[in-house]
Amino acid sequence: MGAKAKQVNLREIIANYPDFPKQGILFRDINPVFKRNDALNYIANEFYRTYSKAKVDMVAGIESRGFIIATALALRFGRGIVMIRKAGKLPGRTVKKSYDIEYGTAIMELQQDAIDKGNGILIADDLIATGGTAIAAAQMIKELGGKVAGFAFIIELSDLKGADRLREMGYNVESLVTFDGK
Ligand code: AMP
Repeated sequence: MGAKAKQVNLREIIANYPDFPKQGILFRDINPVFKRNDALNYIANEFYRTYSKAKVDMVAGIESRGFIIATALALRFGRGIVMIRKAGKLPGRTVKKSYDIEYGTAIMELQQDAIDKGNGILIADDLIATGGTAIAAAQMIKELGGKVAGFAFIIELSDLKGADRLREMGYNVESLVTFDGK
């Protein structure tokens, strides 16, 4: 663990699928990363190194690949997780946030009792593109009185500038692999 953890070249492991799920999108597939125990350990250790001094009380995962990353991080940080889900899947009282996607809008949802006031929340997802999803997640966490400790992404699509938007808003952002252009 820690400094002795094996280096893993995520860039080489991530798979690329042109024109999925539609024409013009180069889909970055994280599943080959999830298959490997050494890659999961590497991810958890990298983010732990960045955020071990931050106030992380919970890890929030964004549906659905973010859940897997959040769980790996929660175990490493010794914390629990909260699920940020697509609308309509969580019971009880919730907060919702709509945000722009390529065509139209999407809605994310979070249970009202998921976060205690003042808790530091590390938000995890597989990939940041335009940042719409991540910003919606941060807004809901703040609405419930949480504090965003930072963002943990495996992949940053730098030409879409979502990570830069978050940094400009003053958030801590770490991404492990950056892809620019198509
Ligand atoms: P955005 O809100 O634009 O930052 O989009 C981020 C969300 O969309 C993440 O949950 C990603 O899983 C997904 N996503 C967007 N673009 C891609 C892509 N090229 N490959 C894989 N997933 C993507």
